[in-house]
Amino acid sequence: MSKWNKHEMKADLIGKHQHLFRCPLCSQPMRMVEGKSLLCTNQHCYDLSKCGYLHLAARSYKTKYDKQLFSSRRMMCNNGFFDPLNEAISSTIMKFMKPLFDQKSHLYLLDAGCGEGTHLSHIQDKLTWKGITELTSVGMDLSKEGIVAAAKEYPHTLWCVADLAHCPFSNQQFDGVFNILSPSNYAEFTRILSEDGCVLKVIPEQYYLRELRCLYEQKKNKPAYSNDNILSRFKDHFKLLSAERLTYRFMLNADLMKPLLHMTPLSWGATEADWQQVQEINLPYVTVDLLILCGKK
Ligand SMILES: [Zn+2]
Repeated sequence: MSKWNKHEMKADLIGKHQHLFRCPLCSQPMRMVEGKSLLCTNQHCYDLSKCGYLHLAARSYKTKYDKQLFSSRRMMCNNGFFDPLNEAISSTIMKFMKPLFDQKSHLYLLDAGCGEGTHLSHIQDKLTWKGITELTSVGMDLSKEGIVAAAKEYPHTLWCVADLAHCPFSNQQFDGVFNILSPSNYAEFTRILSEDGCVLKVIPEQYYLRELRCLYEQKKNKPAYSNDNILSRFKDHFKLLSAERLTYRFMLNADLMKPLLHMTPLSWGATEADWQQVQEINLPYVTVDLLILCGKK
């Protein structure tokens, strides 16, 4: 397929689902014009980029870590690091959203803080395998690097650079909002979630990456990790349907040590000397320990 065709296909896809979007500046509805831009009723205009994403934020952030962080994350994902998580998420969706699938002819899912898009793409694949085909997925992230990587790899999903505090979506558009190991904005999630929709949030549990934490934090006297505050904030905003803890060991090999270190914010505080030291240690495995929260309004 030529580049021009891909672009046209994406513009067509956005046009079909233009009702999802509202202007991040003035909150007015938007429509697709001339097959290349979303235009609001106050004439704010957002062009579809060459590689097929929308830039719907007043700002974006870019750090020197981004590119390596996202390519490392994708490598870990493609080697199965998050497979049990994505499977558990798709099972939770089937459990709590099945009535919605039966009621509605088309469903909309949003990954808020999608990074390089691998979770959303893998979850969508799993849902398709389970027979859920009439759905449209949207991924948003403030990092342009993440969204560019997502748009290049997964052309059939809608990707946008957007700010959680000003989600560029109309009210009650999404049947599922995912928020995976990423910051939240519950006021915005509540606004864009449909009446019977579900919010699915994944947070680290006590032993998440404990082997790495041990390496980094042994010198510092850090208090034990607790996610009590995150859980109680979630419950302040949503009726909790389930809280499932998922713990597994991911077997490492020498090739995966570097991407593992690069994808985790734990490593950002490390000095160059720490970094060198840790890279030379070959951990046999790392623990993945997560809590999957599912709630509705
Ligand atoms: Zn506007």
